[in-house]
Amino acid sequence: MAQQEDVFKKIVSHCKEYGFVFPSSDIYDGLGAVYDYGQNGVELKNNIKQYWWQSMVLLHENIVGIDAAIFMHPTTWKASGHVDAFNDPLIDNRDSKKRYRADVLIEDQMAKYEEKIQKEVEKASKRFGDKFDEAQFRATNERVLENQAKFDNLHNRFQNAMNAEGGVDLEALKQIILDEEIVCPISGTRNWTDVRQFNLMFKTEMGSVADGASTIYLRPETAQGIFVNYMNVQKTGRMKLPFGIAQIGKAFRNEIVARQFIFRMREFEQMEMQFFIQPGTELDWFAKWKETRMKWHQNLGFGAENYRFHDHDKLAHYANAATDIEFRMPFGFKEVEGIHSRTNFDLSQHAKYSNKKIEYFDPERNESYTPYVIETSIGVDRMFLSIMCHSYEEQQLPDGQTRTVLHLPAALAPVKLAVFPLTKKDGMPEKAQEIINDLRFHFNCKYEEKDQIGKRYRRMDAIGCPYCVTVDQQTLVDNTVTLRDRDTMEQHRVAISELRGIIEDKVSITSLLKKML
Ligand code: ATP
Repeated sequence: MAQQEDVFKKIVSHCKEYGFVFPSSDIYDGLGAVYDYGQNGVELKNNIKQYWWQSMVLLHENIVGIDAAIFMHPTTWKASGHVDAFNDPLIDNRDSKKRYRADVLIEDQMAKYEEKIQKEVEKASKRFGDKFDEAQFRATNERVLENQAKFDNLHNRFQNAMNAEGGVDLEALKQIILDEEIVCPISGTRNWTDVRQFNLMFKTEMGSVADGASTIYLRPETAQGIFVNYMNVQKTGRMKLPFGIAQIGKAFRNEIVARQFIFRMREFEQMEMQFFIQPGTELDWFAKWKETRMKWHQNLGFGAENYRFHDHDKLAHYANAATDIEFRMPFGFKEVEGIHSRTNFDLSQHAKYSNKKIEYFDPERNESYTPYVIETSIGVDRMFLSIMCHSYEEQQLPDGQTRTVLHLPAALAPVKLAVFPLTKKDGMPEKAQEIINDLRFHFNCKYEEKDQIGKRYRRMDAIGCPYCVTVDQQTLVDNTVTLRDRDTMEQHRVAISELRGIIEDKVSITSLLKKML
């Protein structure tokens, strides 16, 4: 684990050093859990967004996009339940003065029991080799059973506290923290305050005070912008059920514990799609979207073993199925995307609060009803982080050297092709520029003439550029160049006229999308 944390730290500093992610307002020492994307980060992020957007809007005739405003009428958040219930239970340690989410402290404790069990299993598996029967071991080993019982008991108490009638039972959460003897990681003490609810929405005011300013919120999710536009899109687009509305945009949450870099931010970006369907068909559509979304992730080629579904056993009162797609980050399997079957809750609430009819007239059934919704909701920044974590490698080379390389999927890489003149004379720079001038309309190219070729390769490896081309003496004679592949480091000679054909298909989002069908 310590080793993994080390790797994670390296990834964070790599992101800064190579212009992917900077702390916000860096010259003022940053702002908690807010980050800026640099010259390479923004390209990668835009490519992720494009991959998502096109997979929704281009590949599905019945999905259209919108771009709703961040500010929304304040009643939106009353109707959606966010004003009353978008809370996290927080607890302070009186000695360290640090604030924690009570639910996260308890979940971490559960993870510790799971880790202990896992360690026993791994030890035994090594000891018994091929003869190891994991199921039998888990059912009979004393230490495993003991930790499993502790886990089950804690899990039960936690579920009861979180799902208590009338809202989360804050006293019960505190009692669990005391009974489990959970200590503050900073002070090491158990000097805890009571647990309180904390609303995660940022507030601001619209209009001058003299005019009677009203409190408005920065949206904590993009979904509500879709729900309030359901009728507009359905009518003007003459959409027939089932159909979807997709949106990419900023969301804001005043997270209590913001850590793990861009995993949990206070300002972040979501890509959400609400799919409107006939009531009664939701579980089929839920299964279908689970499959489609998992395919979108696995299509990047990171290996199926790095993903898993985590079905929720605690469902919001309006949801009848929910799952997360989790990715193996250096700090464990973590949620990257949520898929939820939300019934007709949101549309009905908005109908109620706005006094408007928000329904669908079904010409086949000759009746009107409120559609049900399946939602797929993914964080751009978490997706970015998972890609970075998986792509980063400190590679030992056969000659004893090491190189830091980002094995980014070529279609997502910020720069697709770097062009180097071997030296700065004999017309090589001009030839290199000529190549770029021709190819820059098709994909992102970069010109580099500083330092030896080896160093230039390393710089391109570090930003994940899949191809480098070198213009040398021979180029001036026969219009061929060396083309070097980032992952294999192999080089071969190709004609300049062939470059576009070789590279374009491999680096285009289209090539990824074609694999989705
Ligand atoms: P978590 O349990 O980690 O707080 P959540 O279940 O509240 O997440 P959702 O409300 O389902 O998250 O939001 C959908 C997606 O938005 C998440 O899967 C995640 O990728 C992203 N997301 C949510 N909160 C944040 C955040 N603070 N920073 C970055 N991304 C976030």
